[in-house]
Amino acid sequence: MTIIREEQQGGKGKQITDLSKNIKPQQIKKHLDQYVIGQDAAKKVIAVAVYNHYKRLNQPIHNDDIEIEKSNILLVGHTGTGKTLIARTIARLLNVPFTIVDATVLTEAGYVGEDVESILSRLLQVCDYNVAAAEKGIVYIDEIDKIARKQDNPSITRDVSGEGVQQGLLKLLEGSEVLVPPQGGRKHPDQKMVKINTHNILFICGGAFDGLEKVIAKRVRTNVMGFNSDNVGGHNEKESLLRYVSPQDIKSFGNTRIGRTRALVTYLEPLSPQALRAILTEPKNAIIKQYQKLLAMENIDLLFTDEALDFIVEKATEFKLGARGLRSICEAIMTDAMFDLPSQNDITQFTVTLEYAQEKLSKDQIQALKIAS
Ligand code: ADP
Repeated sequence: MTIIREEQQGGKGKQITDLSKNIKPQQIKKHLDQYVIGQDAAKKVIAVAVYNHYKRLNQPIHNDDIEIEKSNILLVGHTGTGKTLIARTIARLLNVPFTIVDATVLTEAGYVGEDVESILSRLLQVCDYNVAAAEKGIVYIDEIDKIARKQDNPSITRDVSGEGVQQGLLKLLEGSEVLVPPQGGRKHPDQKMVKINTHNILFICGGAFDGLEKVIAKRVRTNVMGFNSDNVGGHNEKESLLRYVSPQDIKSFGNTRIGRTRALVTYLEPLSPQALRAILTEPKNAIIKQYQKLLAMENIDLLFTDEALDFIVEKATEFKLGARGLRSICEAIMTDAMFDLPSQNDITQFTVTLEYAQEKLSKDQIQALKIAS
């Protein structure tokens, strides 16, 4: 049984090996392009990082003493700009175990909340407790910025979710052997632990880092004072400053320890109305395509007029709902149609016009969406 198990685990590892040989950074980006609109800078950085990560896993042991070191990825960008989507899409391409965890639930061991190691319990669960597979997986840690900034911590004596958690995370991120409670949650003495080496797990951290622009502005201004400073003084400064983000800023922001890891930092731009419009129709699993597929199963052609699509984007922008709002707005518009059309046998085509969209999306509904988001 042991031999068979080892064979199987070896087999899984091999699958990833072959993949990383064939898929070059350009192909990784092309794959991302099919699902994620815009965000070219982030896509490029990630494509290279992921490629190198899996190349590193396969590095033959030479005598030249050059060991390629691990490098995780930190994505900075407002919510709903595609951070999770990028991580998920990469994992699907590579066919490795993938999990999303929220950094805000983590606390230092001994406090109410989850131990840092529980991040890995989820990874184990998604690959049916196959340790070898989990050790090559990808973990997306959301809201990493929320474990920063001591001054925001309500407790003045106990640093429940600050430095201690960062310290614990750092250990995982940089690569170490940790004991993981297989069922997640908190460790307790009677539990059987699973040992996992995080050396080859790729951690992608994401956060909005609200206020980071100020930190960057301060640094960039002091650095470039005297020459070329016009470049960073334009009035669209707030958005564009993110492109100068560096690990140093993350450190100054309050994620002192996270900023110290060898993480590649990259940024995601706020989505423009043009990008939102493209998100509606262009990605492989675009929202509109999903509705069309659902109705195609009823033998109904679903069409949206350009004006109707523009209206959806307009509302998402107006109420600052972002990409996440697109789906809720479409749902509000489509509910009646999705309810009635399947029972109407004589209909073969249905067009969502501007008037129809306006009628279905009443003011109250937008208010409700706004509150829910
Ligand atoms: P974040 O992790 O940055 O908060 P998500 O990746 O969860 O945001 O995005 C939320 C949803 O919005 C996604 O499921 C996707 O449908 C859509 N979305 C966001 N950004 C993009 C993008 N750049 N391209 C395509 N879809 C996007």
